[in-house]
Amino acid sequence: MTSQFAALADRILDGGAATQEDAVAVLRADDVALMDVVAAAGRLRREHFGNTVKVNYLVNLKSGLCPENCNYCSQALGSQAPILKYSWLSKDETLKQAGAGLAGGATRVCMVSSGRGPSDRDIDKVVEMTEALKDSYEGVEVCACLGLLKDGQAERLKAAGVDAYNHNINTAESNHDNIVQTHTYDDRVDTIGKAKSAGLSPCSGLIAGLGETDEQLVEALFALKELDADSIPVNFLMPFDGTPYENTWELSPIRCVKILAMARFVCPDKEIRIAGGREMHLRSLQATALQVANSIFLGDYLTSEGQDALADLEMLRDNGFTILGMDASAFDELIAAHEAGVTHRAHAATACGSAGGCGDGCGGACGSAAADEHKPAIRQRGAGTEVPANA
Ligand code: SF4
Repeated sequence: MTSQFAALADRILDGGAATQEDAVAVLRADDVALMDVVAAAGRLRREHFGNTVKVNYLVNLKSGLCPENCNYCSQALGSQAPILKYSWLSKDETLKQAGAGLAGGATRVCMVSSGRGPSDRDIDKVVEMTEALKDSYEGVEVCACLGLLKDGQAERLKAAGVDAYNHNINTAESNHDNIVQTHTYDDRVDTIGKAKSAGLSPCSGLIAGLGETDEQLVEALFALKELDADSIPVNFLMPFDGTPYENTWELSPIRCVKILAMARFVCPDKEIRIAGGREMHLRSLQATALQVANSIFLGDYLTSEGQDALADLEMLRDNGFTILGMDASAFDELIAAHEAGVTHRAHAATACGSAGGCGDGCGGACGSAAADEHKPAIRQRGAGTEVPANA
């Protein structure tokens, strides 16, 4: 018997579209139907992306010290999370950090800065960085994520060679004012529009686990569809200690897979990226989630540590995925290079105080996310530190 989700996939493959009721039904699917959901959404994923995974790499250009009050953010005004705080990376440091991610298998570098939005002098810096990146790394895709844009700034980024601009709507319009009060939902939509009008590929996504209802998650996905975001990062709330969402755990691994599958049904041909919170929320279902999503961040996040980059790459290879833009032999060479120790040394060089050690040979002094896999581990390596990046 054809499941309701297989029938939904058939309808979409025939040129139809998921309705809001379909999307809610995916979120409310019985857990025993999880593989029906994954198989059906996976057909849409394979129709548009085959078995490729797009690998992206974050470079946090400016960390913390933000005057905005986004409740979920470790960099927000009032956050007591003990994150790295620094002002703009230099151009050379940016090149070095981006280069680590590109050598690690990423094809897109996402340059992010905290703050309400960039000044024109900030844009000058990002223009310079982008031109240097494009000169140094052939074929690199550059995404900028700098906050709310003013008139003319998107055009300057585009002229410098920036390919995409990220600005997440984060949650449904009907939930927005519960999570931030220093800017409006319309401010966010305006910036996505400015990026798109300038010819930048719009990247916009959400954070699940902010107290939203099923209907609000669906509302957010349909808003992203309407905005025509080319790529949709789906974050799962990382409840940093020292933020209003400390100890907020609303998600389960199965729930996260259903959210990603719902995104695939609603936006079948868009890049669905598993973003922040992947490891701590999906846990053993990370690879299952990639049957419906088609994009990840390699290594670490803006202010927290992800799993080892080698673990990311092995997960892709073990599950038969290829990296978008990389042939099979280059992928094998990349894994071999990581296995030779590049990533492991970066990982084991950090200090964390885990009494028993992380099992990676750190002798009990390792600072990786393995210290407590269910809590955000503050990033202590890569940009803003002297420690090699996890890439
Ligand atoms: S999400 Fe961006 S704007 Fe909001 S507090 Fe964090 S860095 Fe600031």
